[in-house]
Amino acid sequence: MADRPRIVGIDLGTTNTLVASVRNRIPKIVPTDRGNLTLPSVVALSSRGDLMVGGVAKDQMVTNPRNTLWGTKRLIGRKYNSKAVEDLKSYFPYDIVEGPNGDAAVMLGGKLYTLPQVSSFVLAQVKTIAEQFLGGPIDAAVISVPAYYNDNQRNAVKEAGKLAGFDVKRIVNEPTAAALAYGFNRGLDQKVLVYDLGGGTFDVSVLHLAGNVFEVLATGGDTFLGGTDFDNRIMEYVLERFREENKVDLTENPIALQRIKNAAEAAKIDLTLIPNVVIDLPFIDERKGKPLDLRIPLTREFLNSLTGDLVDRTFDICDRVLEEKGIARSEIDEIILVGGQSRMPLVQQKIQAHFGKPPRKGVHPDECVALGAALLGDSLGSIDAVTLLDALSMPIGYALPNGRVKRIIEKNSLIPLVKSFRLPPPKEPGSPFIELDIYQGDSDLLVDNEYLGTVRVPSAVAGRKIDFRLTEECLLQVTVEEASGMRKVDLATRDTPEQLKRALQEAAARNSPQGPSAGSGSDNGGLLSRIGSIFRRG
Ligand code: AMP
Repeated sequence: MADRPRIVGIDLGTTNTLVASVRNRIPKIVPTDRGNLTLPSVVALSSRGDLMVGGVAKDQMVTNPRNTLWGTKRLIGRKYNSKAVEDLKSYFPYDIVEGPNGDAAVMLGGKLYTLPQVSSFVLAQVKTIAEQFLGGPIDAAVISVPAYYNDNQRNAVKEAGKLAGFDVKRIVNEPTAAALAYGFNRGLDQKVLVYDLGGGTFDVSVLHLAGNVFEVLATGGDTFLGGTDFDNRIMEYVLERFREENKVDLTENPIALQRIKNAAEAAKIDLTLIPNVVIDLPFIDERKGKPLDLRIPLTREFLNSLTGDLVDRTFDICDRVLEEKGIARSEIDEIILVGGQSRMPLVQQKIQAHFGKPPRKGVHPDECVALGAALLGDSLGSIDAVTLLDALSMPIGYALPNGRVKRIIEKNSLIPLVKSFRLPPPKEPGSPFIELDIYQGDSDLLVDNEYLGTVRVPSAVAGRKIDFRLTEECLLQVTVEEASGMRKVDLATRDTPEQLKRALQEAAARNSPQGPSAGSGSDNGGLLSRIGSIFRRG
């Protein structure tokens, strides 16, 4: 066949993974062997010791939680000794341990797996699915990542792709891919806002589309705001109602909680289509040997009142991102929806009210990222290739002795780019080496940043030029001026620097029960805080 694709676009999602390919210039999602368009991003080990991926793995999530890995997109490319991993450890029922180079890793059936390995199992499955459906080998891929992913996370996803047997041609930001699915080859001149409300995170990006030039103007988001928060609100309500009616507290009953969590999400999704549902869970508990059933009606209107403030929070973020760049709401020509939670009617109504126009129909919120990645892959090297001008979502800098970060590349800088500065003298006078610990993050405080690695060069080059180059995939490359010219320096990926360890310990001490509270205050301090953190995020 003349037009058989050899490259696919992959949306490696927190909840689900999608793969798409382009045939005769039209991108399409490749269905899985179960006939679905999505493959759950879940890897598990069965009780017989078989490694399982996708739907079969997800099926054992409730019965075998310690050997079922889900949500690993939040962990990949993170250091074990980072604040992010520390916070996430209690969210997942499986074991998170320290792997090679101080990276976070996971245990499955008593064996350690790196997170790129775990993702590679999902990607390898997707590769097989695509090869079977498209009828031949697929050797290349474009893989999407969240815009806020740092350098480590991007490299880790690239490595996962390689382990799965792909030649990863490009890593592309998810909102950029979504915009591509909307605007590719349409000759548009527009400002579009990509509104991505997924299971666990909210992301917003504003792009300028000029023909096939896609320029990211600004990005922002909240990594702790998503569909799970909507489920939690329903859960909280259901538990309260049940307690009032039956004088029974279900928060101590993990099986009941898991059933209510699943039912809450199902009810929420049903309420997108129909105005009333009943949450019906027979034999949820027992009292004096008699079964107790849970039966609670829920209307769409009531769901809206339970969750309206969550939707409003997304607009605060949108407004902030627009303000940062001095863009007026009225300048936005189109709003593109991404992520399952954006299907909720309230979200769409509120978008219309906030921006004065309805979101764009016709771009599928679940599929557009994979479709855009496939279009990008197909266009690479062709005459109508797209130009992506992306923006850095989090600043990059190096550690100062006072526990702060000296910013080198600012947020929203257009990439690719090069930033040059002069190498400072070594920290200790007389030391044979200059060491710069490189960090990425929004905060000025080192402890809230992610450690990327260390530049280690001889002291003789103090005062010479050092270049930080960000490639079009937003990957950092460092070169240092030497007598013979500019030399590339590999970042030493060593364990957590001492300075960061100390800062983390101090932060942990501050956040201990005796210290000031670090709570976000979003779950009203009521039932949810007692339910346990596993149920906080899906
Ligand atoms: P994603 O991360 O994009 O797969 O989004 C998953 C989130 O979208 C989960 O919280 C789902 O419960 C939610 N979701 C999926 N479909 C719908 C729907 N039709 N209405 C409301 N929420 C949905």
